[in-house]
Amino acid sequence: MRPDDICPRLDTVPPQPTQPLVPPIYPAVVYRCADPQQASTLLAGDEDGYVYSRDGQPNADLLSAKCRELHGADRAMICGSGMAALSAALLATLQAGDHVVVSDKLYGRSGSLFTSEAARLRIDSTVVDVCDLAAVRAAMTAKTRLLVAESISNPLLRVCDVAALAEICHRHKALLLVDNTFASPIVCRPLELGADLVMESLTKIVNGHSDVLLGLLCGREAHWQRVPHVVTTWGLSASPFDCWLAARGLATLALRAARAGDNARLVADKLAADRRVARVIFPGLADHPDHELAKRQFAAQYGAMITLILPGGTAAAARFISHAKRIPFAPSLGDLATTLSHPESTSHRGLSDQERTALGIDGGMLRLSVGVESPETILDALEEGLSAG
Ligand SMILES: *Cc1c(COP(=O)(O)O)cnc(C)c1O
Repeated sequence: MRPDDICPRLDTVPPQPTQPLVPPIYPAVVYRCADPQQASTLLAGDEDGYVYSRDGQPNADLLSAKCRELHGADRAMICGSGMAALSAALLATLQAGDHVVVSDKLYGRSGSLFTSEAARLRIDSTVVDVCDLAAVRAAMTAKTRLLVAESISNPLLRVCDVAALAEICHRHKALLLVDNTFASPIVCRPLELGADLVMESLTKIVNGHSDVLLGLLCGREAHWQRVPHVVTTWGLSASPFDCWLAARGLATLALRAARAGDNARLVADKLAADRRVARVIFPGLADHPDHELAKRQFAAQYGAMITLILPGGTAAAARFISHAKRIPFAPSLGDLATTLSHPESTSHRGLSDQERTALGIDGGMLRLSVGVESPETILDALEEGLSAG
């Protein structure tokens, strides 16, 4: 055999008497077709099967099938990031001349996607407080095709009434798209409450290990028509290795969410009783503005995000961060371990002081993403930060 002719490819894997316990990773970009007839029917979508991985690959399908079941969706698609999934939703449901109603509490990039980026496509938008149903009704027009809201918002952890928003949308022949990233399907399943499309950044709680960037879009068959075409044509697809890792993360989602949710509940109660903390925001606390709604709408847990406000503003937050050495200041969420973020300097740094004040964001505000450590370890680590104040 000439060295130049060594090729790692086999025509087929030799038949095996046993099956691997874990799914393989399929990095192949392209699949061999038997003949032109098969290539043509596969590419036309008249027959199920893989040809080119931007159009579909086994690792994305394995992951999307599980996400589809968790959400009770008819269809699901994995995209290269949460933002890719939101872009797919925008491009599949809206066109020039349409109008979209956008929550005023969206993740920053999502807000710009559905307002300034949408405007470049001649899609008009109105930004409203989705917790004010009268304001939502007033924002709907004859051209409104979509409403975008988050089931739990950042950093005030406001909960939107999915069933009520869905009813308003459907009366106006518009669709409701819910970003369920902060809740995860363990806490909330918006399709069961009437939403038409659900998006999640799998990067966060679902993968849970801060080592994958991926997004999910899922929904009802009736609204799915354009989604696969948009994902492949705008190039929003995911990589096989990322999907494989996220499927591994997903396997422990229920365990992690239960543990982190129990920890969050305990930490929220402790912080609420601590005089060094000005305010604790957690949907599971009775003084949260959406507590009753959360109790009704969520399955058992209230999520693992807690926002606290220290009385001393930005300087107090900085002192806390520098002393709470065992809690990484990492502006994301959903990791195995407890992390914290400072909205004023990260997620909401693009806003003016006035805009931040209007949203209720204070320099002393910290957002905890509670992890799965022992509760004692989390409380000790928080104490190191609090005693610095
Ligand atoms: C992170 C995040 C996104 C964007 O997801 P990426 O995977 O980072 O692209 C969207 N919405 C919310 C609520 C997020 O936290």
